[in-house]
Amino acid sequence: MTQTNSTEIVQQQLRTLIGTGEPGSWINGSVHHGVGEEITLEDPAQGQPLITYRDGAAASVDQAVDAAHEAQRIWWSQTASARGRVLTAIGHAVRENLDAIAQLESITAGKPLAAARGETTKVADMFEYYAGWADKQHGDVIPVPTSHLTYTLREPYGVVGQITPWNAPVFTAGWQIAPALAAGNGVVLKPSELTPLTSVVLARLIETAGAPPGLVSVIGGLGHTAGQRLVTHPGISKVVFVGSPETGARIAAAAAGELIPSVLELGGKSANIVFADADISRAVGGAAAAVFSGTGQSCVAGSRLLLQRSVHDEFLERFGALARSITVGDPLHEDTQIGPVQNRAQLDRIRAMVDQAADSAQVVAGGEQLDRPGFFYPPTILAGVDNTDEIAQREVFGPVVSVIPFDTEDEAVSLANATRFGLAGAVWTGRVDRAHRVASQLRAGTIWVNSYKTIDVMAPFGGFGASGHGRSSGHDGLMEYSQPKAIWVETDPQAPLAFGY
Ligand code: NAD
Repeated sequence: MTQTNSTEIVQQQLRTLIGTGEPGSWINGSVHHGVGEEITLEDPAQGQPLITYRDGAAASVDQAVDAAHEAQRIWWSQTASARGRVLTAIGHAVRENLDAIAQLESITAGKPLAAARGETTKVADMFEYYAGWADKQHGDVIPVPTSHLTYTLREPYGVVGQITPWNAPVFTAGWQIAPALAAGNGVVLKPSELTPLTSVVLARLIETAGAPPGLVSVIGGLGHTAGQRLVTHPGISKVVFVGSPETGARIAAAAAGELIPSVLELGGKSANIVFADADISRAVGGAAAAVFSGTGQSCVAGSRLLLQRSVHDEFLERFGALARSITVGDPLHEDTQIGPVQNRAQLDRIRAMVDQAADSAQVVAGGEQLDRPGFFYPPTILAGVDNTDEIAQREVFGPVVSVIPFDTEDEAVSLANATRFGLAGAVWTGRVDRAHRVASQLRAGTIWVNSYKTIDVMAPFGGFGASGHGRSSGHDGLMEYSQPKAIWVETDPQAPLAFGY
């Protein structure tokens, strides 16, 4: 794939999907070109400029929020089952355009084509799943001790602001937009400035499937301009942020300053624990999938591998051999297992963190940037890491795993819990008692047993501690997008009137 080729493919796909080869924001039914700073997307597989667009900045956010308010009134006035039918149609529209969206995602995010197809399929699943919830969000009848009929309604927030990162752009957009719409909201989403294209395409498909124009706008723009405006805009009633802990803290503080509540889906330093009684072959494969898939750019990456000492050396030998056999290459090649790092800054960060860790750790595999164009970094295993080392405590967000030995179950649990994060974790064991005991003791929002990284829209997802608060996905994720209202209806005209409470 040459540079000209990937630029041409991107422009051609954009012309087909959004009607123009020039990227911008999707606002109220059409593409808007920003007037702010020029932003250049780079092709991660080539390390060369791919396409440029202009920051939509604060003005685009203002326009999108106004349009979303108008559209949300129309959306909420429809019947719940009509909203469900539109969500189903969005799912179908995503499936019909699956290959085109996946190709765009593959080129711009550097994701192997098969992975991009899988994630785009999950976007369709999300809309279809939440379509089913659209007409099943009931309130309750409360048996109050007075003569009132007291019941609750679930009401949408109105217009919600969503901010997403670059590692799984279309997946994350669908993950947040689908429940927001199912609960009756309008959405203004600002994707990462590094990967906005597939989110813009999704916004257009949402309208062609029957949502009112303006119900979902996607702003192509920077964090400190468009993003900052979105999270403090007086027309935004809730902020949902998916990204790094540092930015999440800033955004939550900015939103709180305007009394806007937020959900934070942040990073992790998840522990993947392997006991000697596990099926070691499965666990070796699982450890590789846990941290190398997606080039490690996954919030749930199993970036700390805790190995019971009696199997440590044998495991490491097999794990090292597997890591070295993984095919790293062009994301558009069908045999590629791992693509490039998505961007240059992230590659530099990975390199710096590994170089520093290698002063004391043993490099079992990888450890050097690949000598070829593009942002390629190989699967890297660092052994002899202490859990207090920086490499074991800070998110790398790359294909890098720190191996830490342990002796007892108690030690494994306390090592696993000894970070400020709590997003995910896994336990590999042949003992059912141990599996449940350890799963219950790990402080994280998702735990896998003899498995890793399976995620589905039906199950809740979210963090403990510095990995965030609030939930996405499943029924819990849906509930983040509506709030209860209590209605008190007096049924006795003679009842005494209340003074005080
Ligand atoms: P990031 O925090 O740098 O950026 C995320 C988003 O925030 C981008 O859209 C960016 O433009 C925006 N932003 C930056 N500054 C802003 C500001 N001042 N106001 C408003 N918006 C602003 O994260 P990233 O580097 O894009 O993504 C990687 C991080 O995302 C990792 O830490 C990863 O673990 C995390 N992540 C978490 C989940 C999850 O569900 N928990 C999922 C995917 C990624």
